[in-house]
Amino acid sequence: RARELGGGHYQFYTPEMNSKAFERLALETDLRKALDRQEFVLYYQPKVDMQTGQIVGMETLIRWEHPDLGTVSPAEFISLAEETGLIIPIGEWVLHTACKQNKAWQQAGFSPLRVAVNLSARQFRQTDLVATVARVLHETGLDPEYLELEITESIALENADRTIATLNELRTLGVRISIDDFGTGYSSLSYLKKFPIDTLKIDRSFVREIDTNLSDAAIVTAIITLAHSLNLKVVAEGVETPVQQAFLLKQKCDEMQGYLFSRPVPVSSFERLMAASTKGGSAND
Ligand code: C2E
Ligand code: MG
Ligand code: MG
Ligand code: MG
Repeated sequence: RARELGGGHYQFYTPEMNSKAFERLALETDLRKALDRQEFVLYYQPKVDMQTGQIVGMETLIRWEHPDLGTVSPAEFISLAEETGLIIPIGEWVLHTACKQNKAWQQAGFSPLRVAVNLSARQFRQTDLVATVARVLHETGLDPEYLELEITESIALENADRTIATLNELRTLGVRISIDDFGTGYSSLSYLKKFPIDTLKIDRSFVREIDTNLSDAAIVTAIITLAHSLNLKVVAEGVETPVQQAFLLKQKCDEMQGYLFSRPVPVSSFERLMAASTKGGSAND
């Protein structure tokens, strides 16, 4: 079949590619309808204070409950949403839903926690980002100090001057800023002193072998020291074992997030975690 297209295209037009392209197109078609059909769900993963073991915040992580495919992870559709621009309405839905949920939890009497929302490159570049965030905070009634936005280094460094302006405006609103997946962006460190940020999140790839790989251990220790000397908070992602936890505690990492404490969970499970955490129980032992 491919040969009919002419020799030059032969290797680019295999049946396998054809089905990949078709799958992608089908996914895109479904993604366009997913918001209207209310197929997205937000999961929340606790961020835990290393010293006290209490929940001090959470990260919002989107899931797509696809009618045929089951749960689709963001790794499989966020880049497609980026390319098609669908990330803009999806991202606004995430922001709105997370802020509304957090406000509802506060009104239900849970002790106030900060909710983190991930921003993709295209969202961060939107000229009306700051206005959107301000509007969502107003609509949901969430106090800005309880919202944190996570952006990656590569997003932040795309246009450093504009980033500084945007971050300053977000800061003026009272919103916190985290640098996500810190250490994976192959960037210079000089931006850290120019960008108004609050937190560094150490990428999971450095945490994974913290106890066996000396380089990873050294990098994590250096990131913690760097963050603290710049008056930034530091959070470790992907903490899965007590040995990793012990290492991070010893190095004075502020907070951790990972399967050791909890996977990302739906609203009702997160409420159980919060109830257990604020009772003073050390839910992490
Ligand atoms: P991220 O922001 O770095 O989120 C952390 C990812 O690590 C999540 O994957 C989380 O489930 C996973 N994780 C947390 N703890 C552990 C652990 O102990 N072990 C392991 N192996 N993994 C752990 P998830 O939920 O699949 O999300 C992947 C990425 O998709 C996120 O990376 C973020 O970049 C993006 N994403 C998720 N939700 C949203 C969203 O609402 N908007 C945007 N723009 N991006 C999102
Ligand atoms: Mg994140
Ligand atoms: Mg991350
Ligand atoms: Mg990550």
